[in-house]
Amino acid sequence: DNGHAPRRIRPLDPDVVNKIAAGEIIVAPVHALKELMENAVDAGSTSLEIVVKDGGLKLLQITDNGCGIDKQDLPILCERFTTSKLQKFEDLQSISTYGFRGEALASISHIAHLTVTTKTQESNCAWRAHYGSGKLVPAKPGQSPDPKPVAGRQGTQITVEDLFYNIPTRRRAFRSTSDEYNKIIDMVGRYAVHCSHVAFSCKKHGESSTSIAIQASASSTDRIRQIYGASVANELIEYSTSDDRWGFKAEGLATNANYSLKKTTLLLFINHRCVESSNIRKAVEQTYASFLPKNGHPFVYLSLEIAPERVDVNVHPTKREVNFLNEHEIIQAICEHIRSKLAAVDTSRTFLTQT
Ligand code: ADP
Ligand code: MG
Repeated sequence: DNGHAPRRIRPLDPDVVNKIAAGEIIVAPVHALKELMENAVDAGSTSLEIVVKDGGLKLLQITDNGCGIDKQDLPILCERFTTSKLQKFEDLQSISTYGFRGEALASISHIAHLTVTTKTQESNCAWRAHYGSGKLVPAKPGQSPDPKPVAGRQGTQITVEDLFYNIPTRRRAFRSTSDEYNKIIDMVGRYAVHCSHVAFSCKKHGESSTSIAIQASASSTDRIRQIYGASVANELIEYSTSDDRWGFKAEGLATNANYSLKKTTLLLFINHRCVESSNIRKAVEQTYASFLPKNGHPFVYLSLEIAPERVDVNVHPTKREVNFLNEHEIIQAICEHIRSKLAAVDTSRTFLTQT
């Protein structure tokens, strides 16, 4: 029995490494969709159409009207660390677009069947390419993997099929496709509120009715009305504050003291990416505690822009966590501003009922 003898160390097959890395970045269909929406917005699109089948596990399709992808770039599009948005490490500090290290499409191509159809303004036709494991692959076995000319409008359509087909344990872990669809609707709704001037639609494959349909011209309040309902939209305060000392600007819409929810809804965007922050959530809840009845919570949309050199977006490939300098001071300043806005509404209400 040599059970305690050391085993030889060997490198993992690159395909296995890529699959593991991809599975860490894309944990559920909503993570793939978020990356694809960010790419579409980065490409200057004013319209995003999303179609979903089986909670995104069977099909995720997003069609935009952005700048398109140059045909010459198609062969390396899905290679890891290929990007049009970053050249030097220093660029990380001034990055203004959502993506930055060219991992999203590569990751998706390792754990799903990916098809890209794209047309730039200069090209006289659209090009369609299929990808697997980071590389161009033929549409059918035996065919050439080269992109094929097809008819199409300017912009890009990304089709992701059979997500996690080669990670069966992950695929089986999804109990309910409707839970996954709800997560997708939630994320599309967040970006639809944040990206004013962009039209959004989202529906299930084969259904004519849309879950979300927002016109490009809709105001932020209209967007919130359509997605979260009139009772929220009717009680919103607009706020905006900034401080050069901490290099930030915050603006958004938040419910007043007339409105309360069972749970806080926080739509948080830092430098135009939807992120989570338990520190911001806690501070916002504390701010409202003195205005709302016990167990009452607000709806808050907050778009926080922080000077890029003060943000460390590189903490994790998912970029769901964002660290920035003077976090405490910035959160305090924003909450103090919201508090003063709430107090102003509260006094005017008391004043009105008294007279
Ligand atoms: P990143 O966004 O970090 O650059 P991605 O893997 O998400 O990495 O995308 C790689 C590149 O593909 C992008 O830099 C961009 O040039 C191009 N691209 C991806 N999606 C689109 C799109 N919808 N429209 C135009 N270009 C796109
Ligand atoms: Mg990207």
